[in-house]
Amino acid sequence: MKKKQTKNIILLIITIFLIIIGGINFYRYLEYQKTDDYQLKKIGYNKEEVKLIKTLNQKDIETIKTIDYNKNIQSLIKEEEFNKNQFKEYFVYQKSHKTTSEETVFIINNDLDENNEYNEKKIKEYMAFASRSKLDANTSVTLVNANIPYSDIIPLLQKEKYYIEDHLIRYINYYNKTKKDTVDIVREVNANLDYEFYTNIKKTDLEKGNLILVNKYYQLDKDYVPEDLVIIEGNEYAKKEVSDAYQQMKQDAKKEGLLLSITSGYLSYETQNIIYNRYQNEHGLEWADSYSARPGHSEHQTGLALDITSNRSNFDTFEGTSEFTWLINNAYRYGFILRYPKEKEYITGYHYESWHYRYVGKEMAEKIQKENITYEEYYEYYLNKK
Ligand SMILES: [Zn+2]
Repeated sequence: MKKKQTKNIILLIITIFLIIIGGINFYRYLEYQKTDDYQLKKIGYNKEEVKLIKTLNQKDIETIKTIDYNKNIQSLIKEEEFNKNQFKEYFVYQKSHKTTSEETVFIINNDLDENNEYNEKKIKEYMAFASRSKLDANTSVTLVNANIPYSDIIPLLQKEKYYIEDHLIRYINYYNKTKKDTVDIVREVNANLDYEFYTNIKKTDLEKGNLILVNKYYQLDKDYVPEDLVIIEGNEYAKKEVSDAYQQMKQDAKKEGLLLSITSGYLSYETQNIIYNRYQNEHGLEWADSYSARPGHSEHQTGLALDITSNRSNFDTFEGTSEFTWLINNAYRYGFILRYPKEKEYITGYHYESWHYRYVGKEMAEKIQKENITYEEYYEYYLNKK
């Protein structure tokens, strides 16, 4: 009797145990049915597709679970430029335009179809251009739309040290016009030389402080007067910071027996106007333009430019003096650069001026001295590039 009872108890325990196991499994099965894996597989997605779909945002996974099997989802996700946050846009676009996944991703990523009018031929052109040139889609689109065919010059331009992507169309147009070497193409377009002097004029960006650019393409307003002008020497004025740097430089030069003196500092718009008009009346427009700036385009209006010569010389003889040699080697240490160097006339637009120095501050002057490029080029590449 006791034995039978024990047996029953064991049987009861086993039964309860089995029921629990079964219950757990049943519960787990019910839970499994709720999972993405189960539901996606049920729609027809294979293991690999499920894995890919599960990389999407949950919101998109939920949507996919409510619609029929779609083989394009896999190929969309596999696209190199695929961005999961745009999945819905890709999906909707592809569905209504029957585009390939590559096209879809390209179009949506680059916002190429504002009007929802898919132009297969155009898109193919853009894509071909982008893949050949290794340029981003936007630049490729701009070039194709500007009717610029792919050219072998593009990779050569891109390798140039001072290459600026925003200038690409201008580089190519300038190349087609001049057939110059790419190094010169980049240098000259950066200095705006693909435009005639005194065309395409922009306002000088005063936010740049001591680094502003004033030349034949950048103009100061008629009433621009630097804020902190002080007497720098004799009757000449310059900005306070420039004056301080100059005094230090002058003192140090003096210790070596050299005498620096200033012929011109700040010039007002009005004074510049008078000088330019006099030159033009006496020598004609071309001469005036290569020796003097049109009003608003003179660096002397910035209060940052100085014509420095020696007590013992004038402009014409300055280059032969020890003061000239000393300045060439030392001015940068005080923040000054020679602004219109020899053999750079075609870039600066001015005859070589051995005496015209421009203050840009020590740090910048040292960099420019090192790079050995004109301020036009330096400014565009290092200070103005977006
Ligand atoms: Zn000058």
